[in-house]
Amino acid sequence: MTTSDFQSVSRNAKPYLHGPEYAAVAEALQIGQWGHNTATEAFEVELAAFLGVPDVVAVSSCTAALHVALLLAGVGPGHEVIVPSQTFCATIQAILMSGAEPHFIDIDADTLCVDSAAISAAITPRTRAVMPVLYGGRAVDLTAIQDNLDRRGIAVIEDAAHAFGSSLGPVRVGATGALTCFSFGPIKSLTCGEGGALIPRNTDEAVRARALRLLGVSQAQAARIRTTSYDVDTPGWRYHLSAVHAAIGRVQLAHFGAIETVRRNLWRAYARELAHLDRVTLVDVDVERSVPFNCVVRVLTGRDRVFEILHDRGIGVGVHYPPNHLQPAFARWSRSLPVTETTARQIMSLPFHPEMTEHDVAHVVSVLALALTESAPGQPL
Ligand SMILES: *Cc1c(COP(=O)(O)O)cnc(C)c1O
Repeated sequence: MTTSDFQSVSRNAKPYLHGPEYAAVAEALQIGQWGHNTATEAFEVELAAFLGVPDVVAVSSCTAALHVALLLAGVGPGHEVIVPSQTFCATIQAILMSGAEPHFIDIDADTLCVDSAAISAAITPRTRAVMPVLYGGRAVDLTAIQDNLDRRGIAVIEDAAHAFGSSLGPVRVGATGALTCFSFGPIKSLTCGEGGALIPRNTDEAVRARALRLLGVSQAQAARIRTTSYDVDTPGWRYHLSAVHAAIGRVQLAHFGAIETVRRNLWRAYARELAHLDRVTLVDVDVERSVPFNCVVRVLTGRDRVFEILHDRGIGVGVHYPPNHLQPAFARWSRSLPVTETTARQIMSLPFHPEMTEHDVAHVVSVLALALTESAPGQPL
């Protein structure tokens, strides 16, 4: 077999288009109102119905959603935000944008997510928010400490960039009562091209979020075009979701059921194939309740060499993510995080996107088995 039979596995992740996105973008371009518009507002209503929440505020990215959420929660200079180091750097940059400081904590070795005990141990008088990252799409359950967090006025702001469509118990992520932030960037399970959304906790937060995302202007777009002036009530940012991006998101949302099924089935196919390899373990994502965002394995020894061999053979492997507490920009807040540091040396993300078939999965795992042999000849797989 030639490698061209397995073209899609050369990409670690990739947006999936259902088809009608092309016509929807053409129509949005034709309408000629490309900024925040009725398409954005329709997308918000449809997202709220899907998630089972009263309201959703669409924004230009998850990074913007995280920033706005921190401002809504009153987080600013002098405050600390408890956050895992095991995340995309956007999570940490959003904290710095608010003026607060990250307080890095370690993760659970099985889930790669933070847990209640680690959060409780990190609370200081300056803690104003905790920002769990729903790594791989897995929901983070903080019920055990929710009362304690409420009593101390500590907000839960979820980085749910990976977790659109996932559930915690009977409800979708977003409907759990946390300030939840989603990404609709190019490789996320639902994409707008670029985009994001924030789930406010009440009507007051929704109103404030809408002003913060549109330069502090308080009137809705429809009201603004009928008057000779507008009111700027607060500082604000250029964080709105354009109608062109919303048009893509609306098509993606209408077809999301198919994506949930494909992602779950691909992840289960990987689980079956990887069960034969001893030097590689699969990071569990709780596939019954989650819509998997990626497929992450631990390569227990020699990860870098295995990564290189796979890359040379056209397999699009990745590492999500290099730890933030070891990045130069965040060195001031570095501390020892043994689980995160070991994890960083072992994890590798296998190609994972809806264009792939189970045949592709079997191919990736067979090349992985070859790479393990080649990287350490004589050792069992
Ligand atoms: C993609 C991602 C973000 C940032 O999302 P944008 O929409 O690109 O701003 C934040 N956190 C995590 C974990 C992500 O994967």
